[in-house]
Amino acid sequence: MSVVGLDIGNDTSCVALARKRGIDVLMNKESKRETPAVVNFGDKMRFIGTDGSAKFSLSPERTVHQLKRILGKKFSNPAVQADIAKLPFSVTEGPDGSCLVNVLFCHELTSFTPEQVMAMIMVDCKHIVEVEAGTTVTDCVISVPAYYDEAERRAMLDAASIAGLNCLRLMNETTATALAYGIYKTDLPDSDSVNVAFVDVGHSSTQVSIVSFKKNGMEIKSHAWDRDLGGRDVDEVLFEHFSVEFMEKFKVDIKSSKKASLKLRTAVEKLKKMLSANAEAPLNIECIMDDKDVRGMMTREQLEALCAPLFSRFKAPIDRALADAKLKPQDISSVEIVGSSTRIPSIAKVVEEAFQRIPSRTLNSKECVSRGCALQCAMLSPVFKVRDFAVKDACPYTVEFFWDRDGEQSSQALFEKNSYFPSTKSLTLLRGKPFKVTAMIRELGTKIGEFEIGPFDVPQNMEKAKLKILIKMNLHGLVNVEGVDNVVEIVEEVQREVSMEDPAAATPSTGDNAAKGTASMDTDAASHAGAEEHSNLEQKVKIKKCSVPYKMTGVPGFNKQKLDEFFEKECQLQAADNLQEETNVKKNALEAYLYSLRNKMYDSLSPYIKESEKDALVCTLQEVEDWLYDEGEDTTKSVYISKLEELKKIGNPIESRYNEDLQRGPAANTLRQAA
Ligand code: ATP
Ligand code: MG
Repeated sequence: MSVVGLDIGNDTSCVALARKRGIDVLMNKESKRETPAVVNFGDKMRFIGTDGSAKFSLSPERTVHQLKRILGKKFSNPAVQADIAKLPFSVTEGPDGSCLVNVLFCHELTSFTPEQVMAMIMVDCKHIVEVEAGTTVTDCVISVPAYYDEAERRAMLDAASIAGLNCLRLMNETTATALAYGIYKTDLPDSDSVNVAFVDVGHSSTQVSIVSFKKNGMEIKSHAWDRDLGGRDVDEVLFEHFSVEFMEKFKVDIKSSKKASLKLRTAVEKLKKMLSANAEAPLNIECIMDDKDVRGMMTREQLEALCAPLFSRFKAPIDRALADAKLKPQDISSVEIVGSSTRIPSIAKVVEEAFQRIPSRTLNSKECVSRGCALQCAMLSPVFKVRDFAVKDACPYTVEFFWDRDGEQSSQALFEKNSYFPSTKSLTLLRGKPFKVTAMIRELGTKIGEFEIGPFDVPQNMEKAKLKILIKMNLHGLVNVEGVDNVVEIVEEVQREVSMEDPAAATPSTGDNAAKGTASMDTDAASHAGAEEHSNLEQKVKIKKCSVPYKMTGVPGFNKQKLDEFFEKECQLQAADNLQEETNVKKNALEAYLYSLRNKMYDSLSPYIKESEKDALVCTLQEVEDWLYDEGEDTTKSVYISKLEELKKIGNPIESRYNEDLQRGPAANTLRQAA
């Protein structure tokens, strides 16, 4: 069983595997440690990862990427609307208000949920592990941005379940980075703690977390972010700049053409990367549109001037992280920068100014998230023994609970922003009949779900029952009701059993209650000293807890039935892709045999072909070749296999005559040729 960490970015994904001697980041079949997080939908099959991104320029409208931006979000979300306006593939509104991705796949217009497409990328990551480790993956830890809300987290878990993965923990990306950093640090203090800031600037977003480390664990003090600030915003500024410049210089309206826009976007991203290491760089695109070539040039200073307003925005999340952690820049002993956009010198400079210290790059910026996830997976899995290192994460949002009290709404924030999780809280309410509690994310104003509680019995002589609701923020950062108890206090008068030796033994024990038939109820007893000091009777309050049924409704995500259906569908698609790949292999084998036989026919095999066979063979080879370009262009695996067998029936006897001769020795061969 493999123990795996997955980091699926907007841009690329990375897979890490825990092994006895440490964590390895795995290479894909192109020997790269990062794989594009892309799925291309073809005429016959899907192309995922590097194969998918290779098809991007040919069929952008069928190449799905930037998935993390739409996963688990409503179509009406303004951020989604802004994103899809720039995406080359179609995104529409699904029946429940979520997003649907629409592509022409196998000649049919097909809709997929973002969860399904995310699952395809996960399955591709799974294959990378299977090739490398030779085992299937079930248990894994998957990273998510710290700012992911309940719906986005549930969507990621749904994707994992469609991919057949058992996700032990959804881990916040910067938390994973902090774990990968802290667990190997040998100089952490025993008692005091050291504060380290982590800044991750990715493709579309920026995250800042302040973490306090001790020898045996870490606590996240704060998470802050800008969901819409990353490397792609720099690309956008450059795109605008060059569209205007090329309009003036070359009279091409790039924005009017989707294809030309894509070409320019790809080119400016390359230019941006070059300017991270060079003072100036060229930008040349051949045949951008209307058969025109365009060329331009930019210096790093120009880029910095153009992006100055953008770069200044990186300070805000840093300031917020410090303020939320109640720390000053001088309280931070080290600043670690990760995420590929931190390669841009001006972004690193903003970080330096905000913290008043030079940031370090201790970690491998592309791999640290997946490494941290694999470490966490090893800690959670029974397969490995990892040294004790506590990981206390911080809630990204405040989760508030609302209920009705005599017609008025009451509320309580059970999980405060930046308080620790996983954690369990309880809420005690007095109620006469079944009721509802609603959980909301305060900062976003979005509903997490409703808990319907009841039915339950109201104790005799009482108007209301006392209900204790246990609510947990679990390892994934999701809110769940763990249980609801009807807490009944029973005052009983019991005979004081006075023992001369040991007066304390007079208190009835839990065992006594069990004997009285309350065994099925959890009993926690609190005893009061008897009111009548001199009587033989003692008043005792017993607390009986009966579990009360509850139901969570209105929770985002798919139900079990739908997930099973998507899982089946994904298995079918994998089987179809495998079959198509095998079909391609068989078709290639037929083609290769055909051309090799034809070549050898006029060469080494020529002396072994009977004159009477020759014409028929030429004819058959031509027929098969014509067929391959015609109806044989696209047929089934079995047809290619049988065609190859047919050809071999003709070719094999000739080949065996040749081989027999070879074995008789070169002398015989020469003899024959001479004859
Ligand atoms: P996200 O964080 O949005 O989920 P991600 O984790 O996939 O995305 P990263 O791989 O950290 O993102 O960063 C990708 C971004 O970094 C892209 O915008 C890319 O253009 C940019 N980038 C990569 N290399 C460089 C470089 N040398 N200089 C500047 N930018 C770079
Ligand atoms: Mg990232």
